[in-house]
Amino acid sequence: MDKTKRKAIIAGNWKMNKTPSEAKALLTDIIPAVKDADCEVIACVPYVDLSVALEVTKGTNVKIGAENCHWAESGAFTGEISTGMLKEMGVEYVVLGHSERRQYFGETDETVNKRTKAALAAGLKPIVCVGELLWERECDITEEVIARQIKLDLFDVCAEDVKKTVIAYEPVWAIGTGKTATAEQAEEVCAFIRATLAKLYSEEVAQAVTIQYGGSMNNSNADELLSKTNVDGGLIGGASLVAEKFAAIVKAASK
Ligand code: PEP
Repeated sequence: MDKTKRKAIIAGNWKMNKTPSEAKALLTDIIPAVKDADCEVIACVPYVDLSVALEVTKGTNVKIGAENCHWAESGAFTGEISTGMLKEMGVEYVVLGHSERRQYFGETDETVNKRTKAALAAGLKPIVCVGELLWERECDITEEVIARQIKLDLFDVCAEDVKKTVIAYEPVWAIGTGKTATAEQAEEVCAFIRATLAKLYSEEVAQAVTIQYGGSMNNSNADELLSKTNVDGGLIGGASLVAEKFAAIVKAASK
């Protein structure tokens, strides 16, 4: 299968930015700027912005995602949000295993796996983030780290569900740092992720999965990164908070 047959996806990860009124204003700027996109466009927003984001984007080509979800259906998990809550609202995507969740909130591959399975069971499409630390890259164990994360995060996820899952390769050293992986580095790891999926599932499954790059992707470097065979899209942090920059990345993915 060639790249053009896979779904290119540009997703913004707003992190802990934008109040509901600010979210409305940003989406109002983003919507007309991406209306002719020839790729899927998603804004993953803070929980409190979901309602207004879904309302503003109704009938447009911008889809809405959450930034996390819990694996239990309900219960004594103060501060958490269930997949059923997101689904009932009309949310389609959910970011899981982001390095900031792993680094600051004790997220592990085991909990990422539980959240991934719960999201898929509820009919949400997970964007599962994997990526190595700078120290791990310097020790030349990037492939071991990525293979381990893919195996553990997708443990017990069937082939049909993996096809609905987006994998975001996000080298931790490139997130929010302004240091982008070179297009060659991004391609090398995205190709490795695809090869790992082929080993775990099949070549057909591996070729169907959308693999994004994330880590300081912006309007200046998106063209080159997205031109690579195994880079099917981007997960965008900082640049997704500026409508023109985000729209320029969407345009690069639409070529
Ligand atoms: C991210 O938060 O997933 C991300 C890639 O951030 P940034 O684009 O700011 O590096």
